[in-house]
Amino acid sequence: MKPIAPAKVILRRCESYDVDTIRRILREGLEELGLQPKGRTLVKPNCVSSGPMFKDAYTRPEFLEGMFLALQDRDGGMTELALGERCGITIPTRTSFDGAGYYPMLKRVGVKGYHFEEEPQVEIPLTHEGRLRDYLFTPEPIARADFFVNCPKFKSHPWTTVTFAMKNYIGIQDDRHRLIDHDHRLNEKIADLQHIIQPQFIAIDAITAGAGRMLTPIPFDLGLIVMGNNSVAFDSVCSHIIGLDPESIEHIRFAREHGFGPTDLASIAISGDVTLAEAQAKARGFQVGLVRVEKYFEGTHITAYAGPPPEPERTDYCWGGCPGAIEEAVEILRLFDKEFDEKIPHLHVVFGAYDGPIDAKPGERVVFIGDCARFEGMLGDKLVKVESLYRDRATKDPHVAEHEDILAKIFSVRSTLREARGEPFVRLEGCPVSVAEQVLALVMLGGTKNPYMSASEAMRFNKGYLMWKSATAAKRLRGIPYQKDGTFEERGESAPE
Ligand code: SF4
Repeated sequence: MKPIAPAKVILRRCESYDVDTIRRILREGLEELGLQPKGRTLVKPNCVSSGPMFKDAYTRPEFLEGMFLALQDRDGGMTELALGERCGITIPTRTSFDGAGYYPMLKRVGVKGYHFEEEPQVEIPLTHEGRLRDYLFTPEPIARADFFVNCPKFKSHPWTTVTFAMKNYIGIQDDRHRLIDHDHRLNEKIADLQHIIQPQFIAIDAITAGAGRMLTPIPFDLGLIVMGNNSVAFDSVCSHIIGLDPESIEHIRFAREHGFGPTDLASIAISGDVTLAEAQAKARGFQVGLVRVEKYFEGTHITAYAGPPPEPERTDYCWGGCPGAIEEAVEILRLFDKEFDEKIPHLHVVFGAYDGPIDAKPGERVVFIGDCARFEGMLGDKLVKVESLYRDRATKDPHVAEHEDILAKIFSVRSTLREARGEPFVRLEGCPVSVAEQVLALVMLGGTKNPYMSASEAMRFNKGYLMWKSATAAKRLRGIPYQKDGTFEERGESAPE
């Protein structure tokens, strides 16, 4: 399919998570856009993390229930109706679905759930100009979808300013593939992901939106459902709602340059029972969160230093990688340990090619985070030289990308810190060093509570982890591979032309 034109965006008032109200609003949206789902119909929520500690981070189950019922109301010949996602921060998707209350909801509406890391990853070739790679991997249900429904959560994001429809595509890749290019070129990666699949219908859960951050957002009662048929137009209107120019948000601008839709309001038909001006008034005070790491840690026990990432002609700061990940890691730790800021000893964290002074007093640890960290200078009375380990992205082949699950990460972070005992600094390798690894490193360096071991989360995590491992082991025994190399030909109707 081509990205849908003319681009339409519908703004509707919705003050509560009442399933019948949501169903009616979404059904009317489908009717207004002239859409009837058919074939393999796949709904993609944002379930990056869930459970009581992350209660405003994910698309609510009531919203999805309303969506499935509305799709069934408008059935135009569906052969399958399913929900699919790869959640974030190294957690099994089963754990996130459980924490989000998705399983009882799926049962009520008779809908199948895909945990994308358990499905075969298939290869999609890219041919557009300016692409980061010649192909990307995505789970097979995405590649086969005929009617794709994007159902994100309305949130701020520390790496990409916002996460609306297009940023939600990070969850159409399993961990090992999504972490490739999840660095200072993240916005280009998001634009490239739009070439895998195009949505026929988009509806965002903006009833309670998430301000400031993405994993631990501040709840913001926006009282809206926004619907549309074109991702670029949709994200542009959402940006205007919170007072941002969509052209200033890189992944939106890049997708517009790739031909996926318009950013200018004059080319978008906006309708509904709320005007854009009224929606903007509702969103007054909504915080977005591009905060440089040095600023973020001001007034805390942690001092941050950031030099430019590789390819400095593109940007002087790695917005899509390690610095943003430490901000999310600290927000998680603050949730699980109210005394985190008091407990954490004075620490210095360094990113990129940094060439200023590092003001570490005797006994204070210095941590270089990420493969591109580079430094030459004094740490106390020692001259220290830290070399960049960064590998050009052209040398990273997704065919052979490897994955470390959380247990392997715990082991490797622990051994890195143990080996660095007595040394003037610690180096955490990776590009990026994930949120999970930075959480673990801070826990081990600071003696604060470990979220992965918290009583409230551990049971759900262990259950999800064991079910994930047994489901994948059973698939391997049946001869279903993790990954299928070579162009995947059996594309559904949602494949872009
Ligand atoms: S190592 Fe980290 S900071 Fe450096 S380019 Fe990669 S993601 Fe960015």
